[in-house]
Amino acid sequence: MVDLVEERMSGTADGAAAQAVIASLSSHFGDRLSTGRAIREQHANTITWLANEAPDAVVFVESTEEVQIVVRACAKHGVPVIAFGTGSSLEGQINAPKGGISIDLSRMNRVLAVHPEDLDCVVEPGVTRKQLNEHLRDVGLFFPIDPGADASLGGMASTRASGTNAVRYGTMKDNVIALTAVLANGEVITTARRAKKSSAGYDLTRLFVGAEGTLGIITSLTLRLSGLPEAISAGVCAFPTIREACDAVILTIQSGLPVARIELLDEVQVKACNAYSKLDLAEQPTLFVEFHGTEASVHEQAERFGEIAAEYGGGEFTWATRPEDRSKLWQARHDAYWACLPMKPGAKALATDVCVPLSRLADCVDETKHDIEEMGMVAPIVGHVGDGNFHTVTLVDMEDPHDVAKCKEFIGRMVERALAMGGTATGEHGVGQGKRKYMEAEHGTATLDAMRAVKAALDPQNIMNPGKILP
Ligand SMILES: Cc1cc2nc3c(=O)[nH]c(=O)nc-3n(C[C@H](O)[C@H](O)[C@H](O)COP(=O)(O)OP(=O)(O)OC[C@H]3O[C@@H](n4cnc5c(N)ncnc54)[C@H](O)[C@@H]3O)c2cc1C
Repeated sequence: MVDLVEERMSGTADGAAAQAVIASLSSHFGDRLSTGRAIREQHANTITWLANEAPDAVVFVESTEEVQIVVRACAKHGVPVIAFGTGSSLEGQINAPKGGISIDLSRMNRVLAVHPEDLDCVVEPGVTRKQLNEHLRDVGLFFPIDPGADASLGGMASTRASGTNAVRYGTMKDNVIALTAVLANGEVITTARRAKKSSAGYDLTRLFVGAEGTLGIITSLTLRLSGLPEAISAGVCAFPTIREACDAVILTIQSGLPVARIELLDEVQVKACNAYSKLDLAEQPTLFVEFHGTEASVHEQAERFGEIAAEYGGGEFTWATRPEDRSKLWQARHDAYWACLPMKPGAKALATDVCVPLSRLADCVDETKHDIEEMGMVAPIVGHVGDGNFHTVTLVDMEDPHDVAKCKEFIGRMVERALAMGGTATGEHGVGQGKRKYMEAEHGTATLDAMRAVKAALDPQNIMNPGKILP
C-alpha cells in the first residue's frame, strides 16, 4: 500500500488522503481491494487515445452497503470516487485525473426481479445488456438498448447510451424507470416507483441518467422491457452515394415507417467489415435495416422501405431471413469499431459521435465525408442514422504530432458543424474528458452554471468522478 503512494501519477490531489482511505477500507474488503498497477490501469481509459489515468486503488463491491462504506470513507478524506462498469466508455469517463478509488460494480450482477406482467425488471448495475437478455429469453421479453460493447446497465444508464434499436425503442433515457443511488454523503436515494408514469416531483431519474457517475453511484435500476416481436426481418441495401443513403433514411422516418433498426456504413466501413467479419457486401454506402412486428406488418414495412430506397437509387436487397444470418449481420455491425483497427496498423482508433436533427442528417454526413477526404484521413463513417446520430472512427498515428493535430481539428469541425445544425456534440458516447471543451458552445454559460449548481448541491466536495462533463 505504501508503494502505491510513491507510484502515484502526477496530478493526484492528495496522496496521503488516498492512502488513509485505502488503509481504512482494507480490513473490510481484504483481497477485494487492489492497489496493483495492472488492475488500476485496467480501470482507467484503455480504449481510445486519451491517456490512461489510473486510480489509486480498485474496490470490488458486492452490495449497496459496501458502496456506502467506500463513498463515506472517500467523503471523510475528500478523495475522488470513480464508478466502473465494464470500462467500455469512449471519452475517458473512467479516468482518474486526480487519483482516487475506482468502485468496480461488476460483482453486483444479479437480476433482482422480473415483472413480465408490468414489462419491467429490477437489476443491479453490474448486469450487462447481454446477461439481461439471456435471463429474459424464456419470458418472451427483451431489453433493447445495445451499444456495440457488452456494457453494464449501470454504465449504460450513466452515459445515457443507445444503440441500433434506439430508433424504435428509445435510449437509456426512455428505458430507465427508476434507480437507486448512493450520494456523495453516503445516503441512499431511490428516484421513483415502478409506475409507468409519474408527475410526482423533480425527475431525478433522468438527472442521473447521463450523469457519468458525477452525482452518485447507481446501485440498482428498474428498467422498461419490450415484448419480443412475432416476426423480424433484416436486410442490407447499397446506395450510389452516402447522401442518397441518408436521404432514404430521412424519408423513411418522416413517412412514419416504424423501422426497428436503420444503420449506415460508408464504403470504407463496409470494406473493413467485409474483411473483419467475413461478409461479402458490395463496397458502397450501405444501410442495414430491420423490421419488427407481425408477419404481415413486417412484410408491408419491408415493401414500403424498398420503394423509398429505390427512389434514391438503392440496389437489390440482400435479406437475412434465418436468425443466425441476422445475428451475423448485427454482430458485424457491433464489431465495426474493431473492424477499423487493421486499416492503419499501429494507429489508435478514436470513435466520436455527433447527432443532428433528422432533416440535417444528409448535409452533416456529406460534409463530414468531404472533410475526411480533403484532410486525407482514414475515418470510416458508421451510424444510428434513424436518430440523426453517426460516428467516425478516426485512425490516428499517436507518434505523429501532425496526424494527432489533424484529428483534433477534424473532430472540432465535426462538433461545430453539428452544433451549427441544431445538433449536439454527442448523441450517445457522453462527454467524459474528451468532449468537455464543447460544453460551453453547446449549452452556454447560464445553462452550464445551472448544471454546476446541481453538481455543487449533490457533491459539494467534488469527489464524484471529478474532471468529467463540466469544463
Ligand atoms: C466497440 C464499442 C462500441 C460501442 N458502441 C456504442 C453504441 O453503439 N452506443 C453507445 O451509446 N455507446 C457505445 N459504446 C460506448 C460504451 O459501450 C458505452 O458508453 C457504455 O454505456 C459504457 O458502459 P460501461 O459499463 O462500459 O461503463 P464504464 O465505461 O465502466 O463507465 C462509463 C461511465 O459511467 C460511470 N458509471 C459506471 N457505472 C456506474 C454506476 N453504477 N453508477 C454511476 N456511474 C457509473 C463511470 O464512472 C463512467 O463515467 C461503444 C464502445 C465500444 C468499445
